[in-house]
Amino acid sequence: MPQADAKPGFSRTLVRWFSSNAKNYPWRNTQDPWAILVSEVMLQQTTIPTVLARYEPWMRLFPTPAALAAADEQFALRSWEGLGYYRRVRSLQATARAIVQKHSGVFPSDETSLRALPGIGEYTAAAVLSFAYNKPAALVDANVARVLARIYNDPTPIDSTAGRRTLRERAELLLHRSNPRAYNSALMELGQTICTPTNPLCSSCPVRRFCDASSPSSLPVKKNKMKPTDLRHWDIWLLTDLGLLLEKQPDDSRHGGMFRLPQRPCSTVSSLPLICSQKYSVTRFKVTRFLHRAPADFPVLSSETFIPLSLLPSLPLASPDRKLILRLLPQSSSEGTPASP
Ligand code: SF4
Repeated sequence: MPQADAKPGFSRTLVRWFSSNAKNYPWRNTQDPWAILVSEVMLQQTTIPTVLARYEPWMRLFPTPAALAAADEQFALRSWEGLGYYRRVRSLQATARAIVQKHSGVFPSDETSLRALPGIGEYTAAAVLSFAYNKPAALVDANVARVLARIYNDPTPIDSTAGRRTLRERAELLLHRSNPRAYNSALMELGQTICTPTNPLCSSCPVRRFCDASSPSSLPVKKNKMKPTDLRHWDIWLLTDLGLLLEKQPDDSRHGGMFRLPQRPCSTVSSLPLICSQKYSVTRFKVTRFLHRAPADFPVLSSETFIPLSLLPSLPLASPDRKLILRLLPQSSSEGTPASP
């Protein structure tokens, strides 16, 4: 990496801007590595407004690794409802259990020990090292990748091997070594608020004089642009005196350990009355669900079970399922947040 790429003064200018423009997020008011890890995991695939609404209540349920390590898995899954990507909470629980078992509940502070924990990769380890311990670890998330591609005016696809390597090298080169905590937050915030994916606010950008972008909106370039895929499925609604028929998802599936309305092939349910349809998005899928009313003698599969309505509030359910069930059971008590374990 040529030394000319170092952009002297960039990190100092950015940190100075951040000192008077930082947003007041709760995870910025702590140096507790557990609280920082939780915020990073939540923010990886959930928007800031949603995380802001859920972060502090969740931290009150699980204020330490030991609290999550000791929790029932279904209770942990239920606590994550609305945040999506439920594998994250299972992975977080595996991390918490390793911290309790291998480090007596004390969060490790060196990269090797952090990377040895389940669920902690290069990015998350760097986030904990810089935000909790103020150690010089460079971060590259989607916001940082966009800023770096623009200030270097680099059309190399950021999801290519060469693009990833260059991003890492440049992130290291620019890192503010004496204040990595503020610098990493500042770089992310620049990407979130000024150097946005569309219509970046270049005229009010604090690092404009360091930026080589000739057409900022055309950067970054990506090799693999995932198009949304339409997905349809057919579910059944079977409510008896025993409760509502639900299916528990296999442990190795995306919603492992959670319950959902049972699915059937279209041909099996097409003659049953259609109750409603529901549209929602999951990752890159645009899902349309058709819900059919099943008769009491409808064949039930071994993975399915009748759940009494009184147990629905404490049962982990994917958000679209809970919304639909609430709509169809307006008198039920299937809403609510989990009580303390
Ligand atoms: S000048 Fe524009 S393109 Fe360059 S970093 Fe600032 S906002 Fe991004």
